[in-house]
Amino acid sequence: MTDIIDLRSDTVTQPSTAMRAAMAMADVGDDVYGEDPTVNELESVFAERTAMQAGLFVASGTQGNLLALLAHCERGDEYIVGQQAHTYKYEGGGAAVLGSIQPQPLEFEADGSLNLARVAKTIKPDDSHFAKTRLLCLENTQSGKVLTLDYIEQAAQCAREHGLGFHLDGARVFNAAVQLGVDVDRITRQFDTVSICLSKGLGAPVGSVLCGSTELIAKARRWRKVVGGGMRQAGLLAAAGLYALEHHVDRLADDHEHAAMLANGLKDIDGVEVIAGAAQTNMVFASFPPDRFAALHSHLSEHDINISGDNPCRFVTHLDVSRDDIERVSDTVQNFFGG
Ligand SMILES: *Cc1c(COP(=O)(O)O)cnc(C)c1O
Repeated sequence: MTDIIDLRSDTVTQPSTAMRAAMAMADVGDDVYGEDPTVNELESVFAERTAMQAGLFVASGTQGNLLALLAHCERGDEYIVGQQAHTYKYEGGGAAVLGSIQPQPLEFEADGSLNLARVAKTIKPDDSHFAKTRLLCLENTQSGKVLTLDYIEQAAQCAREHGLGFHLDGARVFNAAVQLGVDVDRITRQFDTVSICLSKGLGAPVGSVLCGSTELIAKARRWRKVVGGGMRQAGLLAAAGLYALEHHVDRLADDHEHAAMLANGLKDIDGVEVIAGAAQTNMVFASFPPDRFAALHSHLSEHDINISGDNPCRFVTHLDVSRDDIERVSDTVQNFFGG
């Protein structure tokens, strides 16, 4: 491995030596028969941590969200979701393609929430003209932003009042919990289902866990088989998730600190604008002069710093980015702009 600093995403992490050792040593069995002890442990440990009845190890966050939608909704139902939500915008329209489930997107508010008065107004009357509104989906973190516990409680109440299911795309929900300084179940127990990525800030190579009620997870398990997600000796992968849960949750605070350092380093550079003025958990968004962005991108590449090709640009910190790396990135951007 070269010492490339890769800030494109927190999905790029390499499993550590200790994580690889845990994977190599995992007890395994055929998980489609329910006989993989490590998968079973991962599912029960995540259920416990999220204060849910059951868990399901799935191939990806996309699969976790899809199975949740299929478990909550029938053909001809709809779900309310953010216009920029991963579940709606970045998952290939899977719920529509595979479930005949219609999305009803709403713009996110600036803080990553959905306006609950608008949610309530969007719920369709029971009338044969309309799809049946069945589910409310939130995302936390949303572009790095953390939903407040108060808001989540109000959203849960809104869903209950209107007889809607309540799903959280919690790909980075541990980042939200660490930022709030609470156990993750303070967030997750408000929802009927939550999907959590092991392969983002938690630093596992593969997989997500979907948690929820026994009934919903049984449905999701059936759909997982249908979409080809029934894996066999998957304990090799689940072991990485268990290792990550034990060793990589508290350290997310370091990633948040590093993102704040980066935001600080960038904001004083002439020509750079840090959007919203600060870091949000492990993400920083910054815009650069359009006529200089391509050159900046190559300049950083030449210095072994990998950033996304979009301007405004998202920088994501993770467990393979150190404090020194952040300094190197700030200095290199500063040099480019002649600081
Ligand atoms: C990454 C991500 C997902 C999907 O995870 P994959 O494992 O890449 O399929 C879902 N929701 C959010 C908010 C994400 O960032």
